[in-house]
Amino acid sequence: MPGIDMRKIYNFYPVEPAPSPDALPTGGNIYYECTECGQIVLSVPRIKTSCECGNLSGHGGKLTVKDPTKVRVVSGKLK
Ligand SMILES: [Zn+2]
Repeated sequence: MPGIDMRKIYNFYPVEPAPSPDALPTGGNIYYECTECGQIVLSVPRIKTSCECGNLSGHGGKLTVKDPTKVRVVSGKLK
């Protein structure tokens, strides 16, 4: 669902140390920033969602990552 700019609602902070691409964490305040298109999506999407380039897509609480090396894990806090 392109069009929602999460950065307008949340402040995002990189998760340090950066998690390994083959063991990405998930959680209600864990978001993935696609380094390909720059979009941010929740790691546990309840509604159907995807980033602009399609690297990240998911629904029903499960996110599919095509290329985990193009993901930056960030935590989000409501502004
Ligand atoms: Zn993308």
